[in-house]
Amino acid sequence: MKTIGLIGGMSWESTAQYYRLLNELTRERLGGLHSAKCVLHSVDFAEIEELQTAGRWTEAGEVLARAAKSLAAAGADLLLICTNTMHKVADQVAAAVDIPLLHLADTTAAAVRAAGLDRVGLLGTAFTMEQDFYRGRLAGHGLEVLVPDAPGRAVVHRVIYEELCLGVVREESRAAYREVIAELVSRGAQGVVLGCTEIELLVGAADSPVPLFPTTALHARAAVDAALGPDAPSGPPPRTP
Ligand code: GLU
Repeated sequence: MKTIGLIGGMSWESTAQYYRLLNELTRERLGGLHSAKCVLHSVDFAEIEELQTAGRWTEAGEVLARAAKSLAAAGADLLLICTNTMHKVADQVAAAVDIPLLHLADTTAAAVRAAGLDRVGLLGTAFTMEQDFYRGRLAGHGLEVLVPDAPGRAVVHRVIYEELCLGVVREESRAAYREVIAELVSRGAQGVVLGCTEIELLVGAADSPVPLFPTTALHARAAVDAALGPDAPSGPPPRTP
C-alpha cells in the first residue's frame, strides 16, 4: 500500500472528511482492520485566506510547496491538495517534489465523463468559479462548465468562508444552494460539481434534480485507488458490532 500525503487544513472541516473517507474506503477495499497509510500537513487556514484575499498566490504556493516537501520527506508516495481553490498553485506545488500530485479537477472530470455527462454546473469559491485554473482544467477534459450568476456566486462564496469552513451548517444556506443548483439546471447543467471541499457537508443528492459530483469524496476515492492499485482485493465487508 502506498502512503498518501495530504496538504490539508483548508479548511480542517473538510480535511477531517478526507481522513475519514480514506480510512473507510481502504477498509471497504481490504476489509478487517485495514486503514489508510497517510501523512498530513495541516496549515493555518487564516494565513492562507489572507494571502488569497490579497492575491498573493505565489506566497501561498510557497507555503504549500514547503508542506509538500515535508510530506515527501515523511514518506508520502503521492500528494493531495485538499482544496479545490488552492489548485490555483498546483503547478508550483507539483514542481517542488518528485512524487505525483493527484489533481482534483482531473479526478472530478473523470467522474463526470464516466457518468456520460459533458455539461456541468460548478459551485465553489469565487476564485474557483471565476478564474480559469479550475474551469479551464475541466474544459480541457471536454466539459462545458456553467457557473451561477453574480448574486448566486456571491452567496455560494460567502457561505463557504463564513459558515462551512467554520463548521456551521444552516438550513437557510442549504435552501439558497438548492436555488442556485436549480438555476444551473434550468440553464442546461446535466450535473453539478461541488467544487469546494466543504460543500458536501451542506448539500447532497436530495438537494439536486441532477447528479452531484462531490469533490472530497471523489478525490479520496481516487487516492485510495492510486494507493492500493487496481488489483487490490475488494475484501470482506466491515464487521458490524
Ligand atoms: N476548501 C475550499 C475549496 O475546496 C475552500 C477553502 C480554500 O479556499 O481553500 O476550494
